[in-house]
Amino acid sequence: MALIVHKYGGTSMGSTERIRNVAKRVAKWARAGHQMVVVPSAMSGETNRLLGLASELAPGHADTSYYRELDMLAATGEQASSALLAIALQSEGVQSVSYAGWQVPVRTNNSYTKARIESIDDQRVRADLDAGRVVIVTGFQGIDPEGNITTLGRGGSDTSAVAVAAALKAAEVLIYTDVDGVYTTDPRVVPAAKRLGTVSFEEMLEMASLGSKVLQIRSVEFAGKYKVPMRVLSSFTPWDIDLEEEAKSGTLITFEEDEKMEKAVVSGIAFNRGEAKISVLGVPDTPGIAAGILGPVADANIEVDVIIQNISKDGKTDFSFTVSQGDYQRALELLSEKVAPSLGASEVVGNPNIAKVSIVGIGMRSHVGVASTMFRALSKEGVNIQMISTSEIKTSVVIDEKYLELAVRSLHTAFGLDKSE
Ligand code: ASP
Ligand code: MG
Repeated sequence: MALIVHKYGGTSMGSTERIRNVAKRVAKWARAGHQMVVVPSAMSGETNRLLGLASELAPGHADTSYYRELDMLAATGEQASSALLAIALQSEGVQSVSYAGWQVPVRTNNSYTKARIESIDDQRVRADLDAGRVVIVTGFQGIDPEGNITTLGRGGSDTSAVAVAAALKAAEVLIYTDVDGVYTTDPRVVPAAKRLGTVSFEEMLEMASLGSKVLQIRSVEFAGKYKVPMRVLSSFTPWDIDLEEEAKSGTLITFEEDEKMEKAVVSGIAFNRGEAKISVLGVPDTPGIAAGILGPVADANIEVDVIIQNISKDGKTDFSFTVSQGDYQRALELLSEKVAPSLGASEVVGNPNIAKVSIVGIGMRSHVGVASTMFRALSKEGVNIQMISTSEIKTSVVIDEKYLELAVRSLHTAFGLDKSE
């Protein structure tokens, strides 16, 4: 029998009835002889509720002492759900104990609201496991070197679970959520989307960073670094389904790529709706223009995604890049009021409604012509490609947001991903 980590998301912990269901499921695994560690999220809506209270009291506040209190506050959500789960397990007749991050301890750096885990002490948890207890460790939180409570960023319980699994050298971490796995694309956009039985860790990393919201991206990075086998599966199956069947359900994130190379070239289509494009036109083409434009943008804490620079004509060039829609106004003002005049650019224009669509697959490494299949499929639908960016295992295009669904659907079909009826 093995040491297994379960993680339950907010929806799975959303009511006392659901918590009881989680307890029954965990009890089933414990009774089958596994050593169980469970990492719950806060009950759904709780983190938003708490943070909402804070901003009611101090709208627009943003300094370190405020962020410290936000973490102190937000961490209570997971503390409550963890204790409730321990109580539910005890009432099922299973010995159980819950720990807040600081009690384990889960050590992090001191970046409030987006702290990074540095180490996890496994002694206390291991002693309980050896005594036959189910151990519940709060998701989303830790303690900094000065003893302050920290949180890991929204969705951070996934990362807590993977980190705990890595520290304990668990056989597998099962991420129970409200979907039954990782899909070839969002089934709400493409009803023919299929659940993937396996996906490689690298593909998952691309898909998570490209907007598939199933897992917090840092959890995937962690799993890759420490080679933690990770599975995404549904918490909405009946709790008493056969354990063997449950253990094989969902999507397994694998590290074996060779076998996968022989399969589909493209594993999934990821997309991001909320992007915006900014172009700086007629900039003198001299060394340092990219730094001149993007330096101030980075200094303003605005993240840039796809970047292109056109060839120059008469010593002038055009430079375009994308940012998230939320940063669009700020970036546009910064560029037109400060950056463009100082660089001698002629104009700054933007489009706040664009989307990025990406095909992802490790098979792309060993196959040629994948990108051209993508471009052909889009041109057949009359979708204009505004920007292109590629990496070893993905190709992304930037298009007008209104064509997003059409583009995703046609690519899903073009790469043979539609499920056969
Ligand atoms: N409760 C936190 C959030 O809502 C962490 C998590 O659920 O993973 O972001
Ligand atoms: Mg989540």
